[in-house]
Amino acid sequence: MTNDTHHSTATTTTTESTTASTTRTVAAYAAERPDAPLAKTTVVRRAVGEHDILIDIRYSGICHSDLHQVGEDWGTGIFPMVPGHEIAGVVSEVGPGVTRWKVGDRVGVGCFVDSCRTCDNCRAGLQQYCTGEGGAVFTYNSTGRDGLPTYGGYSAELVVDEAYALSIPDNLPLDAAAPLLCAGITLYSPLAHWGAGPGRKVAIVGLGGLGHMGVKFAHAMGAEVTVLSQSLRKREDGLKLGADHFRATADPATFTELAGGFDLIVNTVSADLDLSAYLGLLRTDGTLVQVGAPEKPVSVNAHALISGRRSVAGSMIGGLPATQEMLDFCGEHGITAEIELIRADRINEAYQRVLDGDVRFRFVIDASTI
Ligand code: NAP
Ligand code: ZN
Ligand code: ZN
Repeated sequence: MTNDTHHSTATTTTTESTTASTTRTVAAYAAERPDAPLAKTTVVRRAVGEHDILIDIRYSGICHSDLHQVGEDWGTGIFPMVPGHEIAGVVSEVGPGVTRWKVGDRVGVGCFVDSCRTCDNCRAGLQQYCTGEGGAVFTYNSTGRDGLPTYGGYSAELVVDEAYALSIPDNLPLDAAAPLLCAGITLYSPLAHWGAGPGRKVAIVGLGGLGHMGVKFAHAMGAEVTVLSQSLRKREDGLKLGADHFRATADPATFTELAGGFDLIVNTVSADLDLSAYLGLLRTDGTLVQVGAPEKPVSVNAHALISGRRSVAGSMIGGLPATQEMLDFCGEHGITAEIELIRADRINEAYQRVLDGDVRFRFVIDASTI
């Protein structure tokens, strides 16, 4: 989730190569410029290095962050842009120094593909918050330590350092597991960090890609879960996903009847909300965790904070250890995303449907159609 201004023109060359020791040209879907529709193209992947693995991408989820970045909602992007940071695939080649993986392993790659490895955050396993020079290298719309732009998962293959891949448990289908790499960890991490569990009342705001994973995790962790959705349209689905209660935020009674009721609220909404109204739903010492990343700044009424010693916090994805822990938790509990599998030539249509709120609950691209 970063933006920098490095631009490169060496992105769509047609170097032909498929051997381990050289770069390879792979099929991909890219936006050529901000807000342009995604179109089929090719990108060059680096040669498989000493500690790299080559991943045959099988599935790639569509995260709302992909739309934000293609649309430059968060600032200047690097174009052409190949989005995609919910990647599930199979190892097809390993570098000579690779110890963690072998050909055939089922692996995932999430939002970052490198970090400094030496700062306090990297050493603590919080690579997403890397404070080393250049910070974390994000899976796309970022600049690698080789100075080249990164390209994401809407593509056929990916070369990544072995340390930045995660193991996908055998019992999870790869298509429905792909969204765990961003939507999954983004909700698992704050729910675990702020102690969702038995005896705790948790609200998930927004039942989209992130929100529906939040409901599954909070329920599996033993918390009492309420969905706060704009309307009751998704009520039946929400209850099936594990919610105990489902309330519409368009109904003012929701805010009076549930006032002071929650220990933890996780806001996944991609638009700016009146957070002060949601703060009123927290108990004394409760926390509202912001994970949605709207274009506009969020603001809060000071009185809503101080009147109940309430906190507003933020959380970004999760580090490598937490992501593996989340995947293992999913393996144990049989948790995956609810997906609609699409062909790559349907990406633009899917983007529009995400904007229209017409997805239950995550689009996943079948990478064999790229
Ligand atoms: P999504 O599938 O589009 O879901 C967003 C949900 O928010 C919608 O389903 C809708 O839920 C609700 N919503 C949308 N517009 C709204 C509005 N104007 N007012 C009130 N509610 C609205 O998106 P997503 O992929 O889950 O991503 C959600 C946000 O999280 C995005 O901003 C994304 O960039 C961000 N994100 C953050 C992180 C992180 O690390 N912090 C990671 C990934 C994504 P209802 O229909 O239930 O109301
Ligand atoms: Zn994402
Ligand atoms: Zn670091």
